[in-house]
Amino acid sequence: MVKKCVKCKKFKDLSKYGKYAAGKDGLNSTCKPCRADIQRQYSAKNEVKEKNRKRKWARENPEKTNKWNRNNPEHIKQWKADRDYNRKYRLQNLEREKERLRKYSKTHSGEKNALNRKRYISKIRATPPWLTREHLENIKQIYIKAKNSGMHVDHIVPLKGKNVSGLHVPWNLQIISASDNIKKGNRFQE
Ligand SMILES: [Zn+2]
Repeated sequence: MVKKCVKCKKFKDLSKYGKYAAGKDGLNSTCKPCRADIQRQYSAKNEVKEKNRKRKWARENPEKTNKWNRNNPEHIKQWKADRDYNRKYRLQNLEREKERLRKYSKTHSGEKNALNRKRYISKIRATPPWLTREHLENIKQIYIKAKNSGMHVDHIVPLKGKNVSGLHVPWNLQIISASDNIKKGNRFQE
């Protein structure tokens, strides 16, 4: 005996249909593979809802659940492994996230961020358009050298001086110690 599946429209043996008491012939109108497909799509869409539904069902059917669990030790083992893995991953992630935040707040406190931004803009404003590529490379090297030796780069004539404003050019840059830079009133590295 065959029956046409309403989904894939294929004629399949009755054994390929699951039981459905309310159906005309006591079978589903869709074949097992199609049912599985539908179920998969439904599950993906309603993962959380589905999880809760299964949990609820398990709570309400403890004997069936226990029996099923006893009969499927491999499944339970996998489930526990997944759970442990997820827990471990979450913990690791939490640590990583904390570390990231710690580093971030160290370098990006709001005040420092705003100041760096201001500095950055004034540096751009103070950078003359006639600087050559070598000049720019020079500037870059000065900053790299300072960074590598734990020093700060200072503008000899400040970019925003009281009377005169310096330029962001190699010959207006000097490498000074962080403490000297802070003494000059520059609280942060540029
Ligand atoms: Zn089908």
